[in-house]
Amino acid sequence: MLSFDEKYCLDTFRTLLGVDSTTGQYEMIENALCAILDGMGYPYRRTRKGGVIADLGGEGDALVVTAHLDDIGLMVRHVNSDGTLNVCPVGGLYPFYCVTENVRVYTDAGDVITGTVCRTPNSIHVTEEELRDTPGDFRKNVCVVIDKPVKNADDVAALGIKTGDFIALEPRMTVSNGYIKSRFIDDKASAAVLLTLMKNMKEAGEVPARKTYFYFAMYEEIGHGTVTLPEGVVDILAVDIAPMGPDQNSSERCVSVFAKDSRFPYHAGMKRELLAAAQRAGADCVTDIFTPHYGTDCDPALVAGYDLRHGAIGPGTLNSHGYERTHIDGLKNTYLLLTEYVLNGGNGNA
Ligand SMILES: [Zn+2]
Repeated sequence: MLSFDEKYCLDTFRTLLGVDSTTGQYEMIENALCAILDGMGYPYRRTRKGGVIADLGGEGDALVVTAHLDDIGLMVRHVNSDGTLNVCPVGGLYPFYCVTENVRVYTDAGDVITGTVCRTPNSIHVTEEELRDTPGDFRKNVCVVIDKPVKNADDVAALGIKTGDFIALEPRMTVSNGYIKSRFIDDKASAAVLLTLMKNMKEAGEVPARKTYFYFAMYEEIGHGTVTLPEGVVDILAVDIAPMGPDQNSSERCVSVFAKDSRFPYHAGMKRELLAAAQRAGADCVTDIFTPHYGTDCDPALVAGYDLRHGAIGPGTLNSHGYERTHIDGLKNTYLLLTEYVLNGGNGNA
């Protein structure tokens, strides 16, 4: 078994977080990923709409393992007359999980302008009692205030900011006692786990038990990351966060094997193979069900008509789509299960 390189995984996670990638704005993260793959020496191809499919080698019916590199974020809806920005979410971002966050606005000219998400009114000290608890609503009382001395819409237009510009949220990654706190653990932490395995396999000269692709998708957050797959794929495995909650088995220190999400039950045979692989690998593992608002990038491939078995695994994660938290043990257990499944297949001898 290839041991988990915690430092490489966290460093890679940090590298991926350092490149903004709101869904639809994939070029920068795609280039950053390809530079990592070039450094390792894996062949890959880029899909036309954004997405990178790396070929890990092996023979026979193919497995595709997918993690996504797009993040939820915001987009400029219009510029308000006072020079603030009216914004809409890209993906499942809610006002209560982003108000007061720092952001970067990307203009078509290539400028990056910083700002902050605010609720209106914002300063508690000068807000009437009856308005203090008003929930945020992107259409009514949430805006982005940019870090420029603008007074009106013309001032903002002069900076090149306009409707349709992407706005990325600051990830703010920090690690404390093994707890990893950051935005976009979903799903850059999983992508870092995949890259850690690729690095270890390359260094050890390991080949997968069967033909294997790692697919880094760019449109998961809006539901169509992996709608095209390489020739010969018969199984798809998504590695994505396992959201935690009162009725969930998932834990930040474990890897979860998905039994069902809000769309479909996962393939029962593949689920059993994943649980067996977890046991062989000594991974701390739970089985969980994710409803009513979750699906992985397996689902669009099935809806697109592929005849596939599908499974999903991932680290337990708190505060999904907000300022998320997981634990290094969750990433390690995800790595252990993934490594066993890729190297030894579903039954221990492929
Ligand atoms: Zn995700």
